[in-house]
Amino acid sequence: MKLSENFTLEELYASSTAARKGIDNYPSPIVQQNLQMLAKKVLQPIRNAYGHPIKVTSGYRCAALNKAVNGSKTSQHLTGCAADIKCTHTSKAYLFRLILRLIREKKIVVGQLIWEYGNVDEPSWIHVSLPMATKKNQVLYLYK
Ligand SMILES: [Zn+2]
Repeated sequence: MKLSENFTLEELYASSTAARKGIDNYPSPIVQQNLQMLAKKVLQPIRNAYGHPIKVTSGYRCAALNKAVNGSKTSQHLTGCAADIKCTHTSKAYLFRLILRLIREKKIVVGQLIWEYGNVDEPSWIHVSLPMATKKNQVLYLYK
């Protein structure tokens, strides 16, 4: 099911870990609404500005899946409000800077934009989420 021009519901709950471990990661109607918001308000505007495909490597995670991947207990992935993304057309660092610019220019509002691991030149992936009362336009850099 299409959530926005370039994003489907299926890619926002697909998980190789869930498949391997037999975890049912199908989202509830409320989670599906959150995923749709995430696609429309965050992912699609980024995709439009970027102009090239963006791959979602992890969207919704039910509690069992979140535990299996050692996710944070307060992770926005648990409610379908966050996605980890990658790209191949440019470096992920370029995409990260583009998202930063969209935030600064007030073209999108996120909960968090996180440079996840990798090194100072290139993240392993980028985490983006919907804004919430306690999280708005937070930009974090995590290194292992
Ligand atoms: Zn994430």
